[in-house]
Amino acid sequence: MLPDIKSLTKDELEARFQDWSEPAYRVSQLLNWLYVRRVTDWNAMSDLPQSLRQKLQTHHELRSLELIRKQGASSDTTRKFLWRLTDHSLIESVLIPANPALYGEASDRHTLCVSTQVGCAYGCKFCASGLEGWKRNLTVDEIVEQVLAVERYTSSTSSSSSSSNPETMTRSTTRTKASGRIVDNLVIMGMGEPLANYDNLLKALKILNAPWGGGIGARKITVSTSGLAPQIRKLADEPVQFRLAISLHGATDEIRNRIMPVNRKYPLSKLTEACDYYLKKKGRMITFEYILIAGVNDALDQVKPLAALARRLKAKVNLIPYNNVDGLPWQRPAEAVQTAFLSALERLKVTATLRLEKGHDIDAACGQLRLKTEREMAEVNR
Ligand code: SAH
Ligand code: SF4
Repeated sequence: MLPDIKSLTKDELEARFQDWSEPAYRVSQLLNWLYVRRVTDWNAMSDLPQSLRQKLQTHHELRSLELIRKQGASSDTTRKFLWRLTDHSLIESVLIPANPALYGEASDRHTLCVSTQVGCAYGCKFCASGLEGWKRNLTVDEIVEQVLAVERYTSSTSSSSSSSNPETMTRSTTRTKASGRIVDNLVIMGMGEPLANYDNLLKALKILNAPWGGGIGARKITVSTSGLAPQIRKLADEPVQFRLAISLHGATDEIRNRIMPVNRKYPLSKLTEACDYYLKKKGRMITFEYILIAGVNDALDQVKPLAALARRLKAKVNLIPYNNVDGLPWQRPAEAVQTAFLSALERLKVTATLRLEKGHDIDAACGQLRLKTEREMAEVNR
């Protein structure tokens, strides 16, 4: 398959256009069609000469994501998109109304949670994404396209209702008019382990961050990892200033080993050393994600070790009530347990938030809509 045009940076396009003896301003025109107008058809690029469009098509695909299911309809609630890729794999993106307290600064716009892999190899016991294993890495353009496709659909379906019938969802139409940016914060917390798809992720983020591309500030991009220590160090050595979130979920090796197999490879000592390195190189605060799971990690005796880790790494803690997953035994604790855990952390002078649950009703935790859809399809095909 030809490489998609959205997997190339401006520099790469300029080099290519130079080889073709095309003037440099043609690159700007092309980028405008791709990232401002977000067109999905070469023919829409009306100010590019036919001969150039032909050349582009001979060397590149212009793929877009096919929407097969959408949940949540109004602009002030969480909306979830299930996409089908060209090889028929399913991935998800989740659009969340801005919550200034969490990852970004105050904003009247939206945070988009994007996927980086089909499935996940890390097999955390509580997570729907890992349930059926890892299938493949997403390509650069498949990561970039999630932002563009969501913006395409949200700007063209202002009053659409939730739909789950693939037959009624058509491929996105070509938009010739520029429409406003909807996504201004990115969290790399969808399906997959982002740092296990390091090169594609970094290139995609470079494109989404660039003023000629997605235009999303690096400080508004949060990469979440289950704890791949060597890649955390590698990320620290990059010139860009992304935010880093660590999916901790346990403050001791005993608890992490029980729920996150990755901890056997990179136990807390290795993980905290890598975080220390990140902190030293970047001087930026890290966030610890801590899902509260009833009877697993929500007892008050966990607060002390968690606070010690957070204080040592100057990390902020995001407590997240567990989203129950069909077929898994884990449960969200009662609200009183959640708030008691938060208060205990705060008493130990840790900056912490208890995430307001926005996506619970629509299976917003990563991998859940895909899992549900695949199970429904299996039922239908039986
Ligand atoms: N693989 C990366 C990023 C994707 S997972 C990581 O693990 O960080 C994004 C976040 O969702 C992680 O913090 C993950 O632990 C959390 N998560 C997974 N399943 C969940 C569930 N059922 N309820 C709440 N959070 C969940
Ligand atoms: Fe993979 Fe993250 Fe889910 Fe763990 S929590 S299985 S690393 S997606």
